[in-house]
Order: sequence, then structure tokens, then C-alpha cells
Amino acid sequence: MLQGKVAVVTGASRGIGRAIALELAKNGANIVVNYAGSVAKAEEVVASCKELGVDALAVQADVANSESVQAMIKESIEAFGRVDILVNNAGITRDNLLMRMKEDDWDAVIDTNLKGVFNCSKAVTRQMMKQRYGRIINVASVVGILGNAGQANYVAAKAGVIGLTKTMARELANRNILVNAVAPGFITTDMTDELTEDMKAQMLGQIPLGALGKPEHIASVVHFLASDDAAYMTGQTLNVDGGMVMQ
Ligand code: NAD
Repeated sequence: MLQGKVAVVTGASRGIGRAIALELAKNGANIVVNYAGSVAKAEEVVASCKELGVDALAVQADVANSESVQAMIKESIEAFGRVDILVNNAGITRDNLLMRMKEDDWDAVIDTNLKGVFNCSKAVTRQMMKQRYGRIINVASVVGILGNAGQANYVAAKAGVIGLTKTMARELANRNILVNAVAPGFITTDMTDELTEDMKAQMLGQIPLGALGKPEHIASVVHFLASDDAAYMTGQTLNVDGGMVMQ
């Protein structure tokens, strides 16, 4: 369904980003695997994409740094000639209660999770406008809707991402650039591995479907939003959370 399309996926060397990269590759898109940390892991994802019959490239960039992001998008366009899909997935947590949260932890989470979405979206917009085609999909979180004690920085960033999604959708609609978000619930990745068994049990109690999610649950919805099946949707946030948030 995405034959010949080019997708940039941020934070794609592991977890949800990796699953998204592989799902889009499975459906025919060439993939730019953005990574901040391990090049070896990013190259593994590149190899897996190539095994699925598409072209792929690992590009290092810190999404919080606008120059680094501009260089990544330039490299992507030089390699593939266009960028059709941007998935803003990169994210971090630095949890603490508000009273104890360090300013550095506030800044790091806002810079990566919110400013990162701004930087990457701004960097692809000119190219997508020229193409008169684009799909931007932001990975938010249900906590951006519900709030969560101990995550003031992360919740503020993810609520910001949901608002930014709506604003970008309104600004870019007339150029056929659709902007939507997914809001995962609790998904089993390195990010949630850090949680204690007690915290995981507490989470399970909040999930009507009775299980933590898998990265693939998010990837399939991102694929839907990137596909022509979602051609009449923009500005939406889809909760993929086992029923935690019912609107
Ligand atoms: P993860 O920690 O496994 O992966 C995050 C990825 O982002 C890593 O590859 C990391 O290297 C990359 N990254 C971090 N900072 C970066 C930067 N400055 N520039 C480029 N890349 C950077 O976590 P995950 O669970 O796969 O999370 C992916 C996204 O899903 C995040 O936005 C996260 O907030 C969101 N999310 C996760 C859950 C969950 O339960 N796991 C729930 C809701 C939302």
C-alpha cells in the first residue's frame, strides 16, 4: 500500500519506532531509520527493512537539535528524492514528582518529546508542500489526555504534541499534508521495562483489555494513518491503549 513512498521514523532503532519502521517497510515504504544512540541497532533495523524488499538508511540525529534534524532531512531527500511520511516517535522519560523534578529533567523531556516534533515537522514541511503530499504521524501518549502523577514534564510534552497535531493539521491541510497522532497506553518496551512489577500490576488494573500492549499494536495504527485508507482524516489522535481512554 505504501509502494515507492519514503518514510522517516525518528527513534527507530528499538521499541515502538522499530516496529513502525518494519511495518511501513512491510507495506512497501523505503525507510530512514533515525537513531540517537546505538548505530549497531539502527543498522539491524536497516537490514531487516532491506530483507522486506525496500531500501533503508540509518541516519543519526538528535531530534531536539534543529541543525541536526535539518541535516537528517537533507540527507533523506538526497538519498531518496522525497519524504512522504514522517513519524515523530522519538521520546524519553525523566520521571519525578513536581516538587522534586529538576529543571534539567523538565527541559530534556520537553526538548526531545515536544520540540523534537516541532523540529522534524518544520524540517519536512517545505519538501512535503512541494510534493503536495505528506503524512505526519506523531506518537503522543494517553497520559497527555489523562495526566499522570510523577510525569509533569512528559505529560506536558505529550499534551503539547496533541495540540501541535491539531494546529499543524489546520495549517497544512490545503497542501494535502495530513497530520494525525497515536496515543499509546502502556506498551512493553525498554521505556516500560524500567517500571516495578507493582507499577505494572497497577497499570494492568486500568486496562479493560487486560494486557499491556505490544509495539506492533501501535505500528499497525500508524500504518493505517500513513495509508490512503486514512485519506479523509487529519488533526486526530487515535488512542491505542486497550480501552484505557474511552471518548
Ligand atoms: P524506547 O525508549 O524504547 O525508544 C525511544 C527511542 O527514541 C529510542 O530509540 C531512543 O534512542 C530514541 N530517542 C530518544 N531521544 C532521542 C533524540 N533526542 N533524538 C532521536 N532519537 C531519540 O521507548 P518506546 O516505548 O519505544 O517509545 C517510543 C515513543 O512512544 C515515545 O515517544 C514514547 O513517549 C511513546 N510512548 C510509549 C509508551 C510505552 O508504554 N512504551 C506509551 C505511550 C507513549
